[in-house]
Amino acid sequence: MTETPAEAPARDYRGTVFLPDTPFPMRGDLPKREPQWLERWERLGLRARLRAQSKGRETFVLHDGPPYANGPLHIGHALNKILKDVINRAAQMSGKDADYVPGWDCHGLPIEWKIEEEYRDPKGKYQGGRRKDDVPVLEFRAECRAYAAHWLGVQRDEFKRLGVLGDWEHRYATMDLPSEAAIVREIGKFLMNGSLYRGLRPVMWSPVEKTALAEAEIEYHDHVSPTLWARFRVLSAGAADLAGASVVIWTTTPWTIPANRAVAYGPEIDYALVHVEGVGEGSYLVPGEMLLVALPLLPQFERDAKLGAHTVKRVLKGEELAGAVTAHPLRGAGYDFDAPLLPGDFVTTEAGTGFVHIAPSHGEDDFNLGRQFGLPVPETVADDGTFTRWAPGFEGLHVFKAHDAIYAACERAGTLVAKARLTHSYPHSWRSKKPVIFRATPQWFIAMDDANRIRAKALEALDATHFVPDMGRNRIGGMVATRPDWCISRQRAWGVPIAVFVDKSTGEPLRDPAVMERIIEAFRVEGADAWYQPGAAQRFLGNDRDPAGYEQVMDILDVWFESGSTHAFVLPDHGLPFPADLYLEGSDQHRGWFQSSLLESVGSQGVAPFKAILTHGFVLDEQGRKMSKSLGNTTAPQDVLKQYGADILRLWVMNSDTAEDLRIGPEILKQQAELYRRIRNSLRWLLGNLAGFEESETVPYAELPELERWVLHRLGEIDARVRKAAEDYDWAGVVPEIHNFCATDLSAFYFDIRKDALYCDAPDSHRRRSARTVLDVLHRCLCAWLAPVLVFTAEEAWLARFPDEQGSIHLTDFPFVPEGWRDAALAAKWARVREIRGVVTGVLEGARRDGLIGASLQAAPRLALPAADAGLLDAEGWAEVCITSTVTLETAEETAAAVAEAAPGAKCDRCWRVLEEVGESKRHPTLCRRCDAVVERR
Ligand SMILES: [Zn+2]
Repeated sequence: MTETPAEAPARDYRGTVFLPDTPFPMRGDLPKREPQWLERWERLGLRARLRAQSKGRETFVLHDGPPYANGPLHIGHALNKILKDVINRAAQMSGKDADYVPGWDCHGLPIEWKIEEEYRDPKGKYQGGRRKDDVPVLEFRAECRAYAAHWLGVQRDEFKRLGVLGDWEHRYATMDLPSEAAIVREIGKFLMNGSLYRGLRPVMWSPVEKTALAEAEIEYHDHVSPTLWARFRVLSAGAADLAGASVVIWTTTPWTIPANRAVAYGPEIDYALVHVEGVGEGSYLVPGEMLLVALPLLPQFERDAKLGAHTVKRVLKGEELAGAVTAHPLRGAGYDFDAPLLPGDFVTTEAGTGFVHIAPSHGEDDFNLGRQFGLPVPETVADDGTFTRWAPGFEGLHVFKAHDAIYAACERAGTLVAKARLTHSYPHSWRSKKPVIFRATPQWFIAMDDANRIRAKALEALDATHFVPDMGRNRIGGMVATRPDWCISRQRAWGVPIAVFVDKSTGEPLRDPAVMERIIEAFRVEGADAWYQPGAAQRFLGNDRDPAGYEQVMDILDVWFESGSTHAFVLPDHGLPFPADLYLEGSDQHRGWFQSSLLESVGSQGVAPFKAILTHGFVLDEQGRKMSKSLGNTTAPQDVLKQYGADILRLWVMNSDTAEDLRIGPEILKQQAELYRRIRNSLRWLLGNLAGFEESETVPYAELPELERWVLHRLGEIDARVRKAAEDYDWAGVVPEIHNFCATDLSAFYFDIRKDALYCDAPDSHRRRSARTVLDVLHRCLCAWLAPVLVFTAEEAWLARFPDEQGSIHLTDFPFVPEGWRDAALAAKWARVREIRGVVTGVLEGARRDGLIGASLQAAPRLALPAADAGLLDAEGWAEVCITSTVTLETAEETAAAVAEAAPGAKCDRCWRVLEEVGESKRHPTLCRRCDAVVERR
């Protein structure tokens, strides 16, 4: 339709239309603009203002689990800190005082390892390399400190760039001198209350790093282990037919044979007494010998040991073996002791022979069985993984290179039955990626089940903790219920020392509060370096004790104890209440920080340091694979910031279900940028149509049209969701719902319908004023709800409307949304209206394809409605909702149906509705009545 008025030159009415007007740009340009907002907040002193204006409010404390200061941030850090920031900001905006003190974990092996790498590199900082053992400990510690300080600074700047709001100026670090004093004060509590003890225990030991490792420092990888089947000749047994037979064991750690002191059997297992009659080629078995092997494992054993013809002489229950004694398989080569047969409930018939050789120094079960039966715990392996003189014939040999020597020794002793190799999952150091061993060493422990009842109290505390998601409770609960005593000593240099003296005459640690106080005071001023200064022992023991009578313990604390102690100094030092409201980390922290914090706090104060625990998943690539440099599938947050900006990364986090693993990659980021664009467009549309809005335009709720009241109803629903998420920290689905509201309810429905009234109605028209009343509320609500997530964009959209040198959306609370806006009946009615609208727009779409009409305003459809729907809207109302020029209503028998027809009449030059009335006006022959009136009054 291209009709033009015949007479008079066509007048241009474009200038009379109220087109959206806003300085808020279409493009976010986030990489460029975000840093400017950060500078502005810095200038404003945003955090300090929030504290000042929140005085007296209920507090909310999310205690920060410290990241480790040894490299640039990766995407997992970004996820963690963004989620924390959203939760903090939402708590603040829902009326609380939510201060946040970010922190860093600074001590520990990975940093020592980095410094040692520098030493080892002949072309590096130290030309020709450097021997660590030649470096004085205080110098080494100073290098570690400088290294951690550097990365702490880098990470702090990167976190700030993500928009994370917190007390960056007074951030905490475990290596701060007062923190080191506080940590040693905590260990002092365990010393005084008796839970700290030194004992010989098998621990996960890294021969490469020469230290004990905690469970949390272990990862499992496939490893090829040499395996050994060996004979233990029966020296004495109850039944006569067992004399002269051999018990066959199977082990994946042949290097533990020198430390063997017993053999375990399963009392309930059926064992076969086998008479060997024939052997396969290359078998080490001897025809005529008698062997004992678990009956269910005999078929496998035939293959493993190339056993030929044989007869099972008898089947006996394991319990019949009680009291039997065998010979060590290297008898005659320096191992002349007996190896008793002992019952072990850990023996199974899953693999091997049903007999487990017991080396009390090299396994948890072995150690416990040895303690039960009084077996010795020989120190056959040194710090560096080589055999000591207590392993005759192997001294100096590394345990991982010992299998050939062990095979050969067994062969010489006539006890080799078979050898093979096995690929299995084996513990490795998470740092060096090298396999670890179990090794009994004297270590410091915190008892789980002594009079202090840490385990029992910890389990009680978990019952009272709120978990998001709830399955976390069982996960950490199961770990606490079964964990061994907490091994807190490490044989390293970069950390807080276990500042304890041991009385050489009694072997007991010295429990003197005065000594402890001197240590804490010195650490507070000089840091833990004070422990390593010459004369430290005399200084701390005082003048009435002789340092010669005491051993100064030089082990350092497990860093998990340090980070587990942070609540004890961060909360009180910042005037924050204990316990914290929330601990929030990745789900791997059930065995890490959540657990160490729980045990430390329960052990020192009797209660958990948190009221709630929230966990998030890990970040995978777009195909769901783990990210790794070698796969080249990593997404660096720094790159996302450069390409898209922090708000896109923040939107990605909050559009994900953070309880599960998250995926990220180029395609996903592109999608997030598209979602962002839609939200931004909604904000821009609101701002444009609110140009010049004044309070006096506002229409009271009761006088608003139904369509406006329906929008307010939706706001009521979303408000409830946002507030619930702020209350219970569960944000799953909330931001997607806000996006969906913008895209579907607003852009594609409400805005579309109200465009006509907003652009073309007179400024004082009730309809236009009503729409602007609601746009005002929408702008306020959306800016506020988006503020915790899109921290930069929400600020921009807020100040675009309320420019103020001192203003910020982040200084406001979530707006009050009256309960009365919720209207279920209205919502049901408008759900039906939208259904019928869908029928009409579907029909119009077809008509457009057929060339019958162009824009929907050129249509005047006939709409047939069943009786039940007849009262929904009048014809004018339907035309408005369907964005057509008119609608003719008819009655339908059953279902709603529409027929597209071209609107009769002429197109109004101003509003483009096609109406028969156009042409009536002499003054404005190309306008409809409404437009005629509006233009005349200008
Ligand atoms: Zn018009």
